[in-house]
Amino acid sequence: MPATPRSRVPMRPASLHASSWAAAALLCSLAAGAQEALPEEAAARIVGGALTDPAGFQRLRELCDGIGPRLSGSAGAAAAVAWAAERFKQDGIPVKLEKVMVPHWVRGTLEKGEVVARPGAAPLALSLTALGGSGPTPETGLTAEVLEVRSLAEAKALGERARGKIVFYNHDMTLAKEYGELGELRGRGPIEAQKLGAAAVLVRSLSTASLRSPHTGMTRVDPALGPFPSAALAAEDAELLHRLLERGPVSVRLWLSAHQLPDVESANVVAELRGRERPEEIVLIGGHLDSWDLAQGAVDDGAGVAIVLETMRLLAKEHPRRTVRAVLFMNEENGLRGGEGYALEHAAEVAKHVAALEADSGSGRPLSVQVHGGAGAAELLRPWVRPLAILGAESTADSPEAGGADTSPLARAAEPVTMVSVRQDASRYFDLHHSAADTLDKVKPFELAQATAAFAWTTFALAEMPAVLPRPQPKPAAK
Ligand SMILES: [Zn+2]
Repeated sequence: MPATPRSRVPMRPASLHASSWAAAALLCSLAAGAQEALPEEAAARIVGGALTDPAGFQRLRELCDGIGPRLSGSAGAAAAVAWAAERFKQDGIPVKLEKVMVPHWVRGTLEKGEVVARPGAAPLALSLTALGGSGPTPETGLTAEVLEVRSLAEAKALGERARGKIVFYNHDMTLAKEYGELGELRGRGPIEAQKLGAAAVLVRSLSTASLRSPHTGMTRVDPALGPFPSAALAAEDAELLHRLLERGPVSVRLWLSAHQLPDVESANVVAELRGRERPEEIVLIGGHLDSWDLAQGAVDDGAGVAIVLETMRLLAKEHPRRTVRAVLFMNEENGLRGGEGYALEHAAEVAKHVAALEADSGSGRPLSVQVHGGAGAAELLRPWVRPLAILGAESTADSPEAGGADTSPLARAAEPVTMVSVRQDASRYFDLHHSAADTLDKVKPFELAQATAAFAWTTFALAEMPAVLPRPQPKPAAK
C-alpha cells in the first residue's frame, strides 16, 4: 500500500490545556522553527495500530513458546537471533547481524541445598538456584556453617571468621525501586566473601514477591580468583535460615554443577529504517534477545523484543525524517557484550545518535516519558508526546534514570547520547524477574500493546520532530 501523505494539521486547541499551550508558545519563541504541527494522522496510525494489531503479542508467543530460554551461548539464544532477523525481513526492514563473542555459562543438572540435620531434626531442603557466573561445588557437595550478613560492609567485617563458611546475604526487599541498591549483594557479595576465604555464598533472591521461586542473576567473577559457588535462595528459605540462626548455629550442604564454557560467537540483530531527510541522524531503539535459562524470559526481555519489532513494523510505513535503528542486543544478562560491542563497533557514529531508547522493563502499561539529555530536553519533547494522552503517559520529565543497560555505553561516551525512557508500571516486575515464573501467561496483551504504542510513538517523535534534543553533559572522568 502506498504511504498515506503525512498530515500537518495542528492539534485542536480544545484538546489542550491552556498551560500546555503557553508552554508550547514559549518553546516556539525560544526555539524558532523547533515547533511544528504534530503529524496527527501518523499518531492515529502508530498509536492506533499498536493498540489494535495483535502482532506484537503473537511474536512474543513465538519467541516464548517456540524458542523459550535464551541464555547467551545456548541453542535458544542462537535460534532467537535467527528468528528476530527473519521477522525484520518479513516486515521488509533491512537487517544485519553484528558479531559479538559472548560468555557461555551453564547451570548444569545439579543444584540443591539442605540445612544439615540437627539433633532431633531431619535435613531441610532449600529452594535455591545458582547465580550466573557461579562456579561448581565438589560433586559430593560442600558443607559449611552459615553466617548471616545484611550488607557488603558486614561481610567484610567478618574478616577471618568467614574462612571456610557459607556467607548468607539477607535483606528485606519489598519494592521494585530497592533492586538497584540491593543488587550489589548479588553482584559483588560473592567476590567479597571469596576474598575472605569463604566456602560459598547464598543470597536472598532480589524479588518483590515469592511463591518459593529462587531468582537468579549475574554475579561478578574476579578473574584472579575464578568462579565461586554462589546461589540465590527463595525468600521463604532465607526467612527459614534467619529463624534457625536466631536459635543457634546452622550448617548447609550445597551441591552446584554450574560452570563456564569457552566464549561463543553470537550477534546483535540490527535493523534500520533510513531517514527521509536526515538519514545521518540516528534514533536507536533497543531491547535484549537473551534471557535467563530458568524460564521463557517473557517479561525480561521478550516483551522488549516484541516492542522493538512492532515499533519498526509500524514506523516502516511512516518514513520518518531521521534514521530509526533497532538493536536487539545479545548478552545483556550476563556480560553486556552486545551493548559494549555495539558502542565499540559504532564508535565513529556515536555522535550521530540523537537519542536512544531501551525497552527492558517488562510488559507493564506506560506511565510517562523520561529524558536524560541537556537542559530543557524533556520540555522540548513534551509537545511531541501529546498523542500518548490516550494512554495517560503524555508527561515528560528530565531524569538521570532514563536509559538502560545495553545503551549505557552510549550514555558514557565522550559525546553522550541522549537517553529517553518510556517509564512503565514495573511494580510487579520483580515478582517474576530472573525466575522460573517469567512465562508468557504473565504478559497481559493489552498492557503490552499500550507499552508498544508509547515506545513506537516516542521513537517516531524523536525521529520526526524538527529539533534534536540537547545532549547531556559528558560524565566527569572517574578519579
Ligand atoms: Zn532485561
